[in-house]
Amino acid sequence: MKAAPTDQRRLVDIAELDRRLGGLAHRRESLPEQAALDQLVAERRAAVESAARARIHVEDLDRAIAKLRSDLDAVRRRRQNDAGLVAGGGLSDRQATELEYELRSLARREESLEDELAELTERHEAVDADVRHSGAVITDLDARIGMAATVRDTALADLEDAVTETTAERAREAEGLPTELLEFYSRCAEEAGVGAAILGGGRCSACAMDLSRSAVAAFRSAPQDDVLTCPECGVIVVRTDNS
Ligand SMILES: [Zn+2]
Repeated sequence: MKAAPTDQRRLVDIAELDRRLGGLAHRRESLPEQAALDQLVAERRAAVESAARARIHVEDLDRAIAKLRSDLDAVRRRRQNDAGLVAGGGLSDRQATELEYELRSLARREESLEDELAELTERHEAVDADVRHSGAVITDLDARIGMAATVRDTALADLEDAVTETTAERAREAEGLPTELLEFYSRCAEEAGVGAAILGGGRCSACAMDLSRSAVAAFRSAPQDDVLTCPECGVIVVRTDNS
């Protein structure tokens, strides 16, 4: 293929702009501002799950406490009833002994239920505190997520601006170049990753390989408007004064 040396030089500028566009696309894919936002969203999800677990725990404790209170009431009523019977007198010795035995057993049961209730009440307070803490954590995360989203949006908008600007610059650079040459450049870019590179001091600047002496000699003697490709990597190599 033939192309004016100045057109060939413009391919190298286009390759640099393409490299910059590739960098911008990569940055968009691995945006640290996005990673920071994702991290906060994951933290919020975990906090919501933990709050839900704590609330279920509170409900379980509410039920257990209600059950204990009702058991305790029944024991107390029974004790009162038995105590009333003893106080009323007129019981046989055997009945009185049985009732006193039962009263002692009810007293032990009451004490044990009261201990259990005190323990559950304490646990209830602790889990309640967990629920409140989770709520505060979520509120704080919501605020941080809002800020992180703004930062991410700004970073994306900046990237978008850079892409628009670079794309326009590339279009200006490519304007007026022969279609055939641009198509050849695109093929090289697709296959080698880079479309065009400078040949400097016998070395291809795309693959950084020193070309053989015979290849360099052949490149030097080739007509200036010959479009040459690197025998190592296949990119269009553009000759300069110190090739
Ligand atoms: Zn090369």
